[in-house]
Amino acid sequence: MIIVLRPDATEQEFQHIVEKIEEKGLKAHVSRGTERTIIGAIGDESVLRALPLEALPGVEKVMAVLKPYKLASRDFHPDDTIIRVRDVEIGGKEIVVAGGPCSVETGDTMIKTAQAVKAAGGKLLRGGAFKPRTSPYDFQGLGEEGLRLLAEARDATGLAIVTEVMETRTVELVSNYTDILQIGARNTQNFNLLKEVGQTNKPVLLKRGMSTTLKEFMLAAEYIMNEGNSNVILCERGIRTFETYTRNTLDISAVPILKYETHLPVWVDPSHAAGNWRWVNPLSRAAVAIGADGLLVEVHVDPENAWSDGAQSLCPVKFQSLMNDLKRIAETVGRTIAPEKE
Ligand code: PEP
Ligand code: MN
Repeated sequence: MIIVLRPDATEQEFQHIVEKIEEKGLKAHVSRGTERTIIGAIGDESVLRALPLEALPGVEKVMAVLKPYKLASRDFHPDDTIIRVRDVEIGGKEIVVAGGPCSVETGDTMIKTAQAVKAAGGKLLRGGAFKPRTSPYDFQGLGEEGLRLLAEARDATGLAIVTEVMETRTVELVSNYTDILQIGARNTQNFNLLKEVGQTNKPVLLKRGMSTTLKEFMLAAEYIMNEGNSNVILCERGIRTFETYTRNTLDISAVPILKYETHLPVWVDPSHAAGNWRWVNPLSRAAVAIGADGLLVEVHVDPENAWSDGAQSLCPVKFQSLMNDLKRIAETVGRTIAPEKE
């Protein structure tokens, strides 16, 4: 921790700050310049976080040296984390694409969508059984029946599945069916839920909240990792800005920043960022070009009749063409993506 004193700080104020640091068992390393005095607090700076150092008389600025997200930070774990789910490696050279409907609907649409996703080179099947809907009058998901239909589609195609868990009391139930637990944007900072999924042995796809800063996002991952589960995938899905043309604004800069700051796989969900299928292809291409490790894309066999988010869902033909486009970009940036249909 570095503490910069005000130019007019008195000797008494200086002494008081040093005492505060030493009281906590840290050493105060003092550097007196002609204009300013700077105090370096040496030792475990986490014990200083609770002190209102910024509010002490004579203090101008306090700067943390260490990152507050230790387990997620690259500083403490320089190599990329690779997460293995069935035969899929997430965070490696291959870009992994998960496709599927917003909500699990019928067994028939689930199987057909899963087959289309697989045929195009998708490696995971997505679908919500518990849906966080803005309106209580909208379709809320099939619940456990939806989980069963997802598992059936997995059995039929071999695709691993990812589905959202919304509350602590259903973590066990959802874990019994899914390969990856998804935490939605509305629960990014639901700390009890984060701790609960942190106690499972399932990888977690953690979405960025619509008004979560990158630092808060990384600290949310830290909550999961701090419980012992280090298999966390960070997923940028668009944030709220003044722009209303798209459903959200895809914060594309989140990708290189999260890759730089953390060792975790970073994904992009272009569908919820865009809100309209038209922008899903260009946003996906941008995501792959900038270094995303995976994509979560809404795919539906009949988007016009989807029970939720039809407007942003790709039909199988558009999904296949997206995968073909991504293949070329992946090669350009030294990555691979599933082969296109022969
Ligand atoms: C979803 O992926 O099904 C979803 C609800 O997305 P988000 O949490 O990002 O809104
Ligand atoms: Mn959706």
